[in-house]
Amino acid sequence: MQVTATHINLYHVCKRELWLHANGINMEHTSDLVYDGKLIHETSYPQRSERYEEVAIDGIKIDYYDARNKVIHEIKRSDKVEPAHMWQVKYYIYVLERNGVKNVTGILEYPTLRQTTNVELTDDDREKIDQMEKEIMKIIRSDNCPPMLHSKICKSCSYYDFCYVKEEKTK
Ligand code: SF4
Repeated sequence: MQVTATHINLYHVCKRELWLHANGINMEHTSDLVYDGKLIHETSYPQRSERYEEVAIDGIKIDYYDARNKVIHEIKRSDKVEPAHMWQVKYYIYVLERNGVKNVTGILEYPTLRQTTNVELTDDDREKIDQMEKEIMKIIRSDNCPPMLHSKICKSCSYYDFCYVKEEKTK
């Protein structure tokens, strides 16, 4: 299996979610968050698709790539800037580099926060991503699903029922 940008993102959010997703247990279609995220993509920047290219390569899919300026634009619905978002864009840059496209940078855009964050890939990041890829493959290949997070983010996770329904029934 190939590591994808989604794996990198989930690695920072929840290792259990990473394992579930990578092992084919997908519940994203039931998530309002995913729906909202799609809606933000479609409504926040209606002209965007005409101005930018979509790039799919080596396990990543960049929705908005400005090829002329070599800038990735990633839009997040979140009302919080998360390290997972940053690493996702760094991974996009990393994979483009691996495929011979150098000097790419990224911009994370948060329409609900009216905020943007610039993203660059450093040598330190490259080493960290190498390490992350190894750890992600180890988690994914494990026979055991990692333990639950018991975090407030669980309430908005598409796997919430999957993770907690049994626990709630036994209360
Ligand atoms: S509900 Fe919580 S523990 Fe379960 S996959 Fe989602 S974030 Fe992880």
